[in-house]
This record gives sequence, C-alpha cells and structure tokens, in this order.
Amino acid sequence: MHPKKERTLIIIKPDGIQRSLIGEIIQRYERAGLKLCATKFFVPTAEHVEKHYLLDPNWLQNVGEKSIEGYKKKGEVPPSEDPIEVGKTVVEVLKKYITSGPVLAMVWEGAHVVEIVRKITGGTEPRSTDVGTIRGDFVIDSYKMADGDKRAIRNLIHASGSVEEANNEIALWFKPEEIMDYRLVQEQIIYDVNLDGILE
Ligand code: GDP
Ligand code: MG
Repeated sequence: MHPKKERTLIIIKPDGIQRSLIGEIIQRYERAGLKLCATKFFVPTAEHVEKHYLLDPNWLQNVGEKSIEGYKKKGEVPPSEDPIEVGKTVVEVLKKYITSGPVLAMVWEGAHVVEIVRKITGGTEPRSTDVGTIRGDFVIDSYKMADGDKRAIRNLIHASGSVEEANNEIALWFKPEEIMDYRLVQEQIIYDVNLDGILE
C-alpha cells in the first residue's frame, strides 16, 4: 500500500458542533493536503462510544497514565494513582459528553495522515497543548477543571492515535461502501513523481 492511502478517523465532538467550528476544523485538515473520504452526522449511543474507546485494550491504562502525568507536571495532585481507575472514570464521563448532541464523524486520507492529524489537532489537554493546534487555539479546558466538575475534557475533536487504532475505529463507524475511493486534482502536485502534466 502506498503511504498516501493511509486513513484516519476524525470526529468533531458535540462541543465542536456547538461552537460553530465545523468549517474551521475541516479547513485545517483540508489545507494541509489531506483528503476527506467519508462523513456521517448523527448522535451516537453510549454503547457505541464505549465500544469505540475500549477497542484498544491498552487505552484505559494509557489514558490514566497520561492524566496522572498531566497533574504531576503542573505540581498538582491526581484524583488517583491507579491509571485503570482514572481510565474507567474517563469512559463514563465520555459517554455523557459524546452522546450530548450530534457529532460529525469523518474518514480522512493522505500520507502519514494519523500522525499529521494528531499534530494539527494538538494534545488531549487544551490548557497545556501548543498554540497553533486546533485544541490549543480554540479551547481552554484542563484535567483539573474537567475532573473537578466530573466531566470529560472538552477538546472539540477525536482523532485516531495510531494506524491500527484508525483501522479499527473506521470499521466501527463506517461501512466500506460509505468510504469514497476517488482522486483529488491536487494529489498530482503532492504525490506525483515526475510532475510532467503541468507545462503545456
Ligand atoms: P485523545 O486521543 O487526545 O482524544 O485522548 P484520549 O484517547 O487519551 O482520551 C479520550 C478523551 O477523553 C479525551 O479527548 C478527553 O475528552 C477525555 N479525557 C482523557 N483523559 C481525561 C482525564 O483524565 N479526565 C477527564 N475528565 N477527561 C479525560
Ligand atoms: Mg485517543
């Protein structure tokens, strides 16, 4: 498979829809040269959200570790020292967050798309992530505030964390026939080896 065929799942979460940031968010990925292949606008069920986050058996542990580290970096005390316990709380608050309104689920394609999309999106915690990323530019939420209020961190977007995660997530959210295989004119300047179709 050519690297340009890599795919990822991006979801604009309910806060992204309610903040009227659909156009802004899509533009960030579009202008990077990535290709939109599928979309779906609907309110997911709690079962679907739980399935989505538990697809990766390591997710609970990882999410807990990341959270605990986030607290410690700021010199703050985490709600628990057990990553699995923190992870389980996060799944519960995520179900409420992601089912609170419509979301826009999308499949995007392009070279290194998983990595590039995570870079454009920014880190999990808007408070500490870089300016210039979508989460850094448009939200102000933190582990401390979200956990204190017993809710999920509001960070506008879900984006797959690895190629394997992306493939599993895409299969959960889309049927193969809902994903478009097509060519964008700009792919010639992005990927073609010879660039022999430009001069008349
Ligand atoms: P992502 O890949 O950057 O979205 O982050 P994760 O996969 O680790 O976590 C999924 C989502 O759960 C995040 O985007 C946040 O909305 C939420 N979240 C993650 N960790 C925490 C946490 O420690 N506390 C709270 N309240 N929410 C969290
Ligand atoms: Mg994730």
